[in-house]
Amino acid sequence: MMEKVDAIIIGAGVVGLAIAAKLSHKLKNVLVIDKNTSFGEETSSRNSEVIHAGIYYPQHSLKAKLCVQGKEKLYQYCKDRNIPHQRLGKLLVAHGEAEEQCLAKTIKQAALNHVNDLTWLTESDLKKSNPELHATAALLSPSTGIIDAHSYMQALLAEIEYNKGQFVGKTTFVKANKDNCGFVVTLNSQDEIMQVHCDHLINAGGLHSTNIAENINDLAKSHIPTLYYCRGHYFSYQGKSPFTQLIYPVPEAHGLGIHASLDIGGQLKFGPDTQYINDIDYEVSDALKAKFVTAIQRYYPSLDTERLQPAYSGIRPKLEGPKDGFKDFVIQNEKVHGLKGLVNLFGIDSPGLTSSLAIAEYVSEQLSI
Ligand SMILES: Cc1cc2nc3c(=O)[nH]c(=O)nc-3n(C[C@H](O)[C@H](O)[C@H](O)COP(=O)(O)OP(=O)(O)OC[C@H]3O[C@@H](n4cnc5c(N)ncnc54)[C@H](O)[C@@H]3O)c2cc1C
Repeated sequence: MMEKVDAIIIGAGVVGLAIAAKLSHKLKNVLVIDKNTSFGEETSSRNSEVIHAGIYYPQHSLKAKLCVQGKEKLYQYCKDRNIPHQRLGKLLVAHGEAEEQCLAKTIKQAALNHVNDLTWLTESDLKKSNPELHATAALLSPSTGIIDAHSYMQALLAEIEYNKGQFVGKTTFVKANKDNCGFVVTLNSQDEIMQVHCDHLINAGGLHSTNIAENINDLAKSHIPTLYYCRGHYFSYQGKSPFTQLIYPVPEAHGLGIHASLDIGGQLKFGPDTQYINDIDYEVSDALKAKFVTAIQRYYPSLDTERLQPAYSGIRPKLEGPKDGFKDFVIQNEKVHGLKGLVNLFGIDSPGLTSSLAIAEYVSEQLSI
C-alpha cells in the first residue's frame, strides 16, 4: 500500500515551512521534505535577516503586497512566540541632490504600497543622531527590523509538529505524476526510493524550484521560467558597531546596495552586493574587499578596513537576468498550469523571508484550503 498524505511541501526553507505551518491547521497530514539533513540550510540561512518595510517594490506587485502584509504578520508572530527580533529602523541615505531626489521618489513609492511612516532627516539631524554617518539626507523607515531567522524557522517547525505535521530531512524529491485525485510523488530518502500519494503538492524548492518543476511529469514546460543565480557577499565588521540602525544606500540594479545591518547579537555586517553566477557556489573572495571598502566609505568614511573580514554569501533565485528589469514573485496554481492541487513558487528572492507568512496565506487561498 502506498502511503498517503494530504500535502507534500518540497523544501524546508522559510517559505516551505511557513506554508506547511499554515496548511497544518487545516489538513491532517502535512509532510515537508528537504534534501538536506536539517531545515533552512540554503538561502533561508544565508541572507540579511532584515524584516523589510516594503518600500521599493512596484505598486500591486506580489512583492509589495506580500512584503507589507508579511511584515506585520511576522512582527506579531515573533511577539507571540518570543522569537528574537528588533524593530531597529533603517536609514536610507543619500549623497547629493540626485540621490535626494531618489529619496523623494521613494516616499511616493512607499505610500503607493501603503507604507506611510517614512520621515525625512536632514544632514544636521543625522550629525546629531549618527555622528559617524556621512550623508546629506536620509529617510528613516521605523518599521524595518531584524529577526533571528533560525529561531523563526524552529518556531514554524514546532507549529507544524504541534499540528501533527512532519518534517523529514535527507529526502529528495525525484518526480511526481498526476493521477485523478492528486499526485504520486517519488522520493529518495537516504537511497531508499519510495512513493507517497498527496492531494496537494507545493514546490518551494528555492534555487532548485525549476529543476523540481521539470520533474513534475504533467506540467507543461512553458510554465517553467528560467532561473538565474545572483550571489550576494557579506563582510563582517569586528568589534563594536558605530550604528544602532540599519544603513542603506540608494538601491542599485538587482539589489539594495551594500548596506550595513546588524544581527540579533549586535554583530555588524556589510553586504550583500550582486554577482550573477552559473553554478551554486558560496565562495567569498578576499578580492571583493576593495569594492566593499569603496561602497561603505561613501556613508561611513572612518571605516577601519582591518576590521572588515569576508563572512558568508547567499544566492538569490532570480527570475530577472543581468539585463532585465524588475521581476515579481511567481506563484502558480491550477488556474495557470491546469494541475489541480499543485502550487509552484519561482523567484522567491528578497523579500521572501519578510513575506513568508503572507506567502503561506496566499498559497493556502490558491489551493482553497
Ligand atoms: C543575499 C540574500 C539576502 C537576502 N536578504 C533578505 C532579507 O534581509 N529579508 C528578506 O525578507 N529576504 C531576504 N532574502 C530572501 C530570502 O532569504 C529568501 O526569499 C528566502 O530565504 C527563500 O526561502 P525559500 O524557502 O523559498 O528557499 P530556501 O531557503 O532556498 O529553501 C528551499 C529548500 O528546498 C530544498 N530543496 C530543493 N530541491 C529539493 C529537492 N529536490 N528535494 C527536497 N528538497 C529540495 C533545499 O534544500 C532548500 O532547503 C535574501 C536572499 C539573499 C540570497
